[in-house]
Amino acid sequence: MQKPFNEFQTPTYRMAVAQFEEAAEHLKLDPNLRERFKTPQRSLVVSVPVRMDHGGVHVFQGYRVQHDSSLGPSKGGIRFHPEVNLGEIAALAMWMTWKCALVGLPYGGAKGGVNCNPKELSQNELQRLTRRYTSEIVLWIGPDRDIPAPDVGTNEQIMGWMMDTYSQQKGFAVPGVVTGKPIVIGGSKGREEATGRGVVYTVLEALEHLNISPAQSTAVIQGFGNVGTNAARLLQKREVKVISVSDSKGGIYNPKGLNIEQVIQYKALHQTLEGFPNSERIKNEELLTLDCTVLIPSALSEQITGLNAKNIRCKVLAEGANGPTTLEADHILTDKGVFIIPDILANAGGVTVSYFEWIQDLQNYFWNEKEINKKLHEIISTAFHQVLACATANKVSIRMGALMQGIDKIAKAHIARGLYP
Ligand code: NAD
Repeated sequence: MQKPFNEFQTPTYRMAVAQFEEAAEHLKLDPNLRERFKTPQRSLVVSVPVRMDHGGVHVFQGYRVQHDSSLGPSKGGIRFHPEVNLGEIAALAMWMTWKCALVGLPYGGAKGGVNCNPKELSQNELQRLTRRYTSEIVLWIGPDRDIPAPDVGTNEQIMGWMMDTYSQQKGFAVPGVVTGKPIVIGGSKGREEATGRGVVYTVLEALEHLNISPAQSTAVIQGFGNVGTNAARLLQKREVKVISVSDSKGGIYNPKGLNIEQVIQYKALHQTLEGFPNSERIKNEELLTLDCTVLIPSALSEQITGLNAKNIRCKVLAEGANGPTTLEADHILTDKGVFIIPDILANAGGVTVSYFEWIQDLQNYFWNEKEINKKLHEIISTAFHQVLACATANKVSIRMGALMQGIDKIAKAHIARGLYP
């Protein structure tokens, strides 16, 4: 018999399924549910024709995958990157399902993306691409169906264009169709930094659990975009010394600590980290193996692999990125005693404040930042301790504890709703 769903079979998707299978085994999950959860509920592939500035038309390929909607509308980011493919988007959608369930949000998981290099597009081309992609997926999204948000290569401006395109088709403003949009059109205070803030909350919980003082800790951060910059800035505020950061072109290192506000300003001015005063250049591969207390991969998936895991020297690995650690690396690091804060817990702050944004949009009533950060802290620290308790009780890794919590909730929802027809 032909193997079903062949088109998803990429390394990232296989990794998501293998993690799921391991957690399902620990949960002794019904084989019928296992079969169902391994593939997404809906997958849409669209062609996105864009009039380029030179006058010709280029057709990009776009995707939106909804993995599960048993708890509510699906939720997940939009990625603009040259390596985007259906398998990667499906894996990211599956992780979103477990993540939302783990932190108790009434959402299923989704993800979308366009295979493109946004750095090579002009602002006008980027806007045309975003609007056409939104038109192509317009029947699938909506505040009660599926709510996109920013991810790699997208930002609040792109969310603003998506909201506008959707609203034009409806004939009135629909702010709740996307989150992570500018505050002036219904965005939430605190959303921009929420993922980094959530990462920092989990890191501080882990340090406390391990009896390590933040002031005596060092941090290394791979990826200096939305998640990486905000995590770096907030860690420094908590007296953690950030000794190295990087972007796709490479990194900078100063064992005495970098001044993160100055690094952010330097990068904004020069579009690169290279040449930042009082720092050495460092390659991304070297950065990952620096001696440090906390390592925070905040770029792409599969960065820590069977090849470099044995050289990793951190005490805590906080996965700001989705899927940065391969299965092989995960086992090596666990054996070495590294405290791993898995992606679906470490970076759940983003979707949590997206949820707050959506609630505010639906109610047309906006909260202040103090309230948002307080609620975020409550949700993340509760999830952290639940995961730790689950891992300890079942004698499994923290990643397995987190996955088991999320998957169990979705399984219960499927059983309660039953299978139609
Ligand atoms: P972003 O586009 O803002 O930043 C990505 C950064 O990674 C950039 O600095 C880029 O130069 C760098 N980068 C790319 N390839 C690299 C490489 N090979 N080595 C080192 N750096 C590299 O993206 P983001 O929103 O910060 O997302 C980063 C990760 O966090 C992704 O895995 C994403 O799925 C995850 N995440 C993001 C959010 C969010 O709210 N934005 C929420 C949850 C998880």
